[in-house]
Amino acid sequence: MRGKRTVVLTGAGASAESGIRTFRDNDGLWENHRVEDVATPQAWRNDPELVWRFYQARRRQLREVEPNPAHAALARLADELDDMTLITQNVDDLHERGGSPQVIHMHGQLVSLRCEGSGRSEIRTAPSDLGDDFLNCSCCAMPQRLRPDIVWFGETPMHMEAIYRAVDACDVFVVVGSSGHVYPAADLVRVARANGAHTVLVNAEAPLNIEAFHEVHLGKAGALLPGLIDSWLGELT
Ligand code: NAD
Repeated sequence: MRGKRTVVLTGAGASAESGIRTFRDNDGLWENHRVEDVATPQAWRNDPELVWRFYQARRRQLREVEPNPAHAALARLADELDDMTLITQNVDDLHERGGSPQVIHMHGQLVSLRCEGSGRSEIRTAPSDLGDDFLNCSCCAMPQRLRPDIVWFGETPMHMEAIYRAVDACDVFVVVGSSGHVYPAADLVRVARANGAHTVLVNAEAPLNIEAFHEVHLGKAGALLPGLIDSWLGELT
């Protein structure tokens, strides 16, 4: 893998062993809520209090969880490779805290909030930012309400230009912990493969898009990745 352009895409399964729940594993519910009740623009319009409280709870949860061996292994891989791009669908900050220097958050981030007026994001993680009351921005003369800085279902993912640039050019494309249900993330493996990349999956169970992978490793990311990365790095030393 050394000397090859590598892209890694992670999903909720990469954070599962840190104690953050995925939602395809528990009856389509995310922390006991239907996704459409808490993770869509319609939900924010219809019941902003519920959506705000849901994401404030997720933001508070970040203080209680720690990166797991999968995060550490991917940070080590980035350290060893000259050209690795890490893209995540996860909104937590566990890759950063696990040592990954650069992370593309295609579905947004919990550590920041977004002004409804200007669209600007600001990092808001002080204890006073984590309560259940709505917060206002610090960017507008007349402070506006902040919304979660999350890409909800029906919204366009962030950084797609940079993502397609990396995926189009990569030699190896690795997916860790993703069910293959959420688009356009689920299609990136096909884009990479169509451009000639070797495609690798590390996931607890077979995802919807399993046919797009040349190499499949079924099991927990925290258990499998450290050894796999040892072997990928060892192969070409
Ligand atoms: P998903 O919940 O749809 O699928 C998770 C996948 O991970 C499943 O296929 C499951 O088999 C696998 N998995 C579970 N535990 C695993 C482990 N220990 N090791 C390896 N694989 C494991 O998640 P998704 O594909 O990322 O897509 C759903 C969306 O959910 C994302 O867009 C994301 O924004 C959102 N989400 C994010 C978080 C987070 O930030 N940590 C948590 C829940 C949901």
